[in-house]
Amino acid sequence: MHNKRTVFPVAQTFHAVAQTFSRRRMQIARGSLESARVLNVPTGRRLKTCDTADWKVCATIDAQPFLVAQVFQPAVSPTFSRHRVCLARDLRYSRSPATSPQPCARGQGCPRSVWLLAILMLLPAAGIAGDASTQVNKISQAAEALRTTLIQTRRDFHMHPELSNHEERTSRIVAEKLRGFGMDEIRTNVAGYGVVALLKGAHPGRVVALRADMDALPINETMDVPYKSLVPGVKHACGHDAHTTIELGVAELLSKMRGDIRGSVKFVFQPAEEAPPGEKPIGAALMIQEGVLENPRPGAIFGLHTTTEIDAGKIGYRAGAAQASSDSFVITIHGKMSHAADPQKGVDSIVVAAECVTALQTIKSRRIDTFEPIILTIGTIHGGNRPNIITDEVKMEGTVRTFNEGARKQIEQMMRQTLGGVTAAYGATFDLDYRHGTMVVFNEPKLVEASLPSIRRAVGDANLVEAPKRMGAEDFSFYQQVVPGFLLRLGSGNKAKGITAEAHTPEFDIDEECLVTGVKVMSTLVVDYLNAH
Ligand SMILES: [Zn+2]
Ligand SMILES: [Zn+2]
Repeated sequence: MHNKRTVFPVAQTFHAVAQTFSRRRMQIARGSLESARVLNVPTGRRLKTCDTADWKVCATIDAQPFLVAQVFQPAVSPTFSRHRVCLARDLRYSRSPATSPQPCARGQGCPRSVWLLAILMLLPAAGIAGDASTQVNKISQAAEALRTTLIQTRRDFHMHPELSNHEERTSRIVAEKLRGFGMDEIRTNVAGYGVVALLKGAHPGRVVALRADMDALPINETMDVPYKSLVPGVKHACGHDAHTTIELGVAELLSKMRGDIRGSVKFVFQPAEEAPPGEKPIGAALMIQEGVLENPRPGAIFGLHTTTEIDAGKIGYRAGAAQASSDSFVITIHGKMSHAADPQKGVDSIVVAAECVTALQTIKSRRIDTFEPIILTIGTIHGGNRPNIITDEVKMEGTVRTFNEGARKQIEQMMRQTLGGVTAAYGATFDLDYRHGTMVVFNEPKLVEASLPSIRRAVGDANLVEAPKRMGAEDFSFYQQVVPGFLLRLGSGNKAKGITAEAHTPEFDIDEECLVTGVKVMSTLVVDYLNAH
């Protein structure tokens, strides 16, 4: 027997439930329950049952002046829904004869005795988790219904990619859609083209945030698809078009489920995730500086990132350190110019630079703990302008990746030490401009653990996979410095369809099936998080 039944005492509760249900989903309930009131149904008489596909409301006149409404869910509900507990908590009814309950005047509290009785009777139910399966089914159906819209939205963003800090069109469309969904608050032009919206649920509760990034990359689209980029040299090659689309999908879906939501959802649309760190904060760091995590402050933040390494329909997760920190640096070697025929009169900065490149590799191979995964890459090297001149300057740029803050500090020190020693040996000098970028993406283990059951219910047990660490960085890590966060990996590959190209390549694409999966998972995570806190 799956039916779970909860008894709402107090005539006023009965009336409120009837009204709420009739307003939201059960027009029939109003007629039935109202008629009980008007007809003054005798004690003990059971009213007719009102059914919809999802809910059943029965009413029994138990004993004057109390009415008892039995509200239960006939399907697979394992437990009493917190949603309905909240409905009852929202009561604003004064104690009055059972046959004619009257709403309190606005702002006027109910008599304490009524409140106390209602709360005491509801406490056992409140301790039980919500009717999660039904909610997941509801979310799942709503996400499926959005499929066409999601694909259209993603293709529109894909055809109009915008580079970091130039997301004008994207953010305008995001804000327009959010207004259409009836968000309670919308802030635009946050940290450039960022957009932040707040959706308030029908019931009091905490706040949870979702973050999507919106920018594209300076990569030329080589795919011949109907939704090919219309901007030469710019492409959504990291799936941020999908991230933005999914978060809009979640906003649309949840805006239609306000009645089921406790607390609020903060939707964060962030610019400039791809931009390299500079002197001033950008992207996530600037969003935080401009208050995105305040007023109200979320208890947790969730995000996702597409990956073609995992098939569409699946979700990857990793608790703890999941993605590497990413720093960048510029090394300038200063030598002395001379005629190429008289090298002894100069200091050849190219030869010194070559020695430095080799010596820097020993930091990884010989100096840092061998069990510590790190990367130290020199990505560019530029120097000289004529074949017959000993050049006096070489510039090199590179990146450092780690999973460990201690190793990160050590590497910077060792680079200075190495460059100092090598350049001194040749009579050269150096400058090292070391720029601290994104931190390690650290998925709070308790948050991950608490989230996994929700993901399982949304996509099925077999579609949840533990993912390996990645050296790729993500500025989602900045949010995680402030509040617990969980960045999921959204499977977006499909070998049968030939969708295997990695992010940041001209051939990158996603299996659009992942859009519906993303909306399902993120919506479920939000609702479950708010129900549990
Ligand atoms: Zn990227
Ligand atoms: Zn990305």
